[in-house]
Amino acid sequence: MHLLDIHFHQNVFHWSSSEIAVWYKHHRYYYSPIRNLLTEDQNLRKQVQREERLHNQITALQKASAIESSTPELDEIAKELQETQKTYASNEHALYKAECLLHPILKDAYIKLRRDATWFMREGLVQDCADRGGCCGRQCGCCAKRHLSKRRRRGEGHCTTECGCCISFRGYDLPKEEKDKISSEFVGMLESRLSPHFINLANGYISPAKPHGLGKIESWWKELFGPDYYDKKVM
Ligand SMILES: [Zn+2]
Ligand SMILES: [Zn+2]
Ligand SMILES: [Zn+2]
Repeated sequence: MHLLDIHFHQNVFHWSSSEIAVWYKHHRYYYSPIRNLLTEDQNLRKQVQREERLHNQITALQKASAIESSTPELDEIAKELQETQKTYASNEHALYKAECLLHPILKDAYIKLRRDATWFMREGLVQDCADRGGCCGRQCGCCAKRHLSKRRRRGEGHCTTECGCCISFRGYDLPKEEKDKISSEFVGMLESRLSPHFINLANGYISPAKPHGLGKIESWWKELFGPDYYDKKVM
C-alpha cells in the first residue's frame, strides 16, 4: 500500500497516491470538482467585494459633494459599478454549477457546514486570509461581519484583491493585470502536485472536522468578540 493511502479513515481530506483524487471518509474523490468549487467561490467573492467597495466609494463621494449629484469621478465609479453588477448572475451561476457537480456526499457536508452563516470563520481559512494580508490578520473584523451585508445573497467569505478595507490599508488598488495574476496563481497553487493549499481549503470548505491548534488569531477574536465567540465558530 502506498504511504498516501494509509490514513484513509480520517474525516479530513488528504491526497491519494493517484494524485488526481483525495481521500475523505473511506472514499476517494476526484479533486477537480472541488478545485472548480474553490475557484468559482473565489470569483464570486471578488465580484461581491468589488461591488461593495464601489458602493461605499459612491456613498462617500456623495456625502463629500452634497450639492453636486454628479461629478466626473462619481460618474466613472457608477459606470464601473454597473459593469461589475452585470457579471454577478454569471458568477453566481458558475458557483451553483460547481456545487451541483460535487459528489453528493461532499455536497451534503458542504451544505451542512453552511447552516452557520459564519461557517468560513474556521481556523484554516482565517489563517489563510491573515497570511495573504487579508482583514483576518488585522483587528478590523471585516470578514466576520461580511455575511451581514444584505446586498448579495451569496459571496460571503474572506478577503480577495477587491476588499475595500485591504485596499485602504495597503494605500492603493492593484492594477487589473496584477489582480488577474494573483487569481491565476491561486489556481496554480490548487493544481500543483499534492498541493497542501488545496487540502487546507478543501477541509475548510467541506470537512466538518474540528481543526487542531489555535493560535494568535484565536486570542484576537476572543479580544474582539468576547471569550466564547471563537470557540462557537470553530467547528
Ligand atoms: Zn478589514
Ligand atoms: Zn480585507
Ligand atoms: Zn478574512
